[in-house]
Amino acid sequence: MIPVRRYLRLLSRYLRPMRRRVGLLGAVLIGDIVLRLLNPQLIKAFIDGAIAGAGSERLVPIAGWFIAIAVAQQGMAVWSTYLAEDVGWSATNALRAELTDHVVRLDLSFHKQHSPGELIERIDGDVTNLSNFFSAMTIKVIGNGVLILGILILLIRESWLIGAAIALFAVISLLAMSRLHQVAVPWWKAVRRAAAETYGFVGEQVEGTEDIVANGAAAYMQERFAGMLRRWLPLEIRGWMGFGLLWATNVVLFGLSTTIVFVAGSYLFGIGALTIGAAYLVFHYTEMTRRPIEQIRRQLEDLQRAGAAIARIEELLATENRLRPSGDSQLPQGPLSVEFDHVSFRYDDAEGLGEPVLHDVSMSIAPGRVVGLLGRTGSGKTTIARLLTRLYEPQEGEIRVGGVATWDTPLEVLRARVGMVTQDVQLFRASIRDNLTFFDPSIDDDRLYEVIERLELGEWLASMPQGLDTLLESGSGGLSAGQGQLLAFCRIFLADPGVVVLDEASSRLDPATEELIERAVDHLLENRTGLIIAHRLHTVTRCDDIVVLEDGRIVEFGARLALAADENSRFARLLAAGMEEVLA
Ligand code: ATP
Ligand code: MG
Repeated sequence: MIPVRRYLRLLSRYLRPMRRRVGLLGAVLIGDIVLRLLNPQLIKAFIDGAIAGAGSERLVPIAGWFIAIAVAQQGMAVWSTYLAEDVGWSATNALRAELTDHVVRLDLSFHKQHSPGELIERIDGDVTNLSNFFSAMTIKVIGNGVLILGILILLIRESWLIGAAIALFAVISLLAMSRLHQVAVPWWKAVRRAAAETYGFVGEQVEGTEDIVANGAAAYMQERFAGMLRRWLPLEIRGWMGFGLLWATNVVLFGLSTTIVFVAGSYLFGIGALTIGAAYLVFHYTEMTRRPIEQIRRQLEDLQRAGAAIARIEELLATENRLRPSGDSQLPQGPLSVEFDHVSFRYDDAEGLGEPVLHDVSMSIAPGRVVGLLGRTGSGKTTIARLLTRLYEPQEGEIRVGGVATWDTPLEVLRARVGMVTQDVQLFRASIRDNLTFFDPSIDDDRLYEVIERLELGEWLASMPQGLDTLLESGSGGLSAGQGQLLAFCRIFLADPGVVVLDEASSRLDPATEELIERAVDHLLENRTGLIIAHRLHTVTRCDDIVVLEDGRIVEFGARLALAADENSRFARLLAAGMEEVLA
């Protein structure tokens, strides 16, 4: 019923690196248990001694030991809590890091199918549910089992009858509990799923506030939100009902066991089989089984939550990457050649592969050449850029950068050597500095100022109220698309790649920004290969070659000047018709 093997695999994987701390935790927990078993023996000795009329020279040391042991036991309890938190957080942080790493490496189709909120809930929420699982759960379940066993042995020493009755009860309690546990797991799983979906929805909506409000969709979205909550509520009620059931069963069982002890205890005392001290000891030990049984029950609850979380985490880790495993070839220095070799591509969504977006695209760009990629909206230009940076993998054909297939070099290497400026630059709610360095503190300000000067953005930066410390908003950063792209240029400059892919913003720019961008692009393309997805005539004029894309097919490829001179070329017709009007 509990997939022990899977649990053990996960435990050994994340706990092995800190086995010493885990060992210490185990030792402290066991010490705690031993001390807890020891103390009632002193109470018995004390009561029986007092009744037999022992003097204070015998009773005071017993009381002193009792206090010392109680204090030591509390100390152990505090220490073990500290260690358990430490181990739990270290292990779950390692797991979080691994999950994040895995997810970040997945191709974009995965990210399109899972909203950011959902991923947060899965990577953080599910993992948080495991912190107890990693630290104290196993030790506590085993430790409490040992504690109950110890109590039973000590009870049997006093009275085998009561010992046997309580043993029977402990077995019945745990059996009843694990039976209920089986019923309640799926209930709790459903609750986790509803939570993840709802958070995913909320995250997406919050991100889209501007569009939702502007389009008057707020009421509809609220209605959907309410709908999700309505579906969530009964699941939550059922989930907690499972918990309540476990709890109530425990209380009833425990009440019964206390009754047995009192009835049997008073009978045995009456016939002289037990002293008062022993009768008290029996009661005390029985009382003491309550906590471990309660704890085991609680650990089982946690285990059921952990079970649901582990299943979902394993599912996430098992998500197949559509990107094939990378090789480890290195890329040459300096400007890189780019080749598309019979590349065909379709996006895939939840239902499977969609319509073909690129058909048999082949082109070859020599190192240092700048190619302008033209085509109407939806013709597949951005898709080409995404394939080049390996956000997706083509179903057919191969893309080579610097003579090396894109899959044959580590993703980090590829993405460091191929810089991309997207149509809508994503900025973070952080300072301009952090937006440029991607929060890398090792890049110092002098380097930033140098890059900013190179791109002639000094004046623009000076206009920012707090210079590099100016806080940008998330999304578009409160900047125009053009300004956003200028910031992205700086990012590229810092990375110093051999190929630059520039997916020009299709929105119109004010003349001042436009001029800035023009010059910045010139700098950006110095000694680099360029693939420019151009929407504006101005950008096109710096290209050496022109590629025209139509419905995912290359319909024209040639030197810009030659094409412009040939009246029959599409490029010439495009220029005559007013490129910016046609392509915008
Ligand atoms: P624009 O000039 O408007 O930027 P584009 O040439 O860059 O257009 P692409 O973004 O490459 O066009 O899109 C090509 C086709 O692929 C379009 O039909 C589009 O609907 C589809 N498409 C783009 N992105 C996805 C995606 N993530 N999932 C499914 N289909 C997509
Ligand atoms: Mg595009």
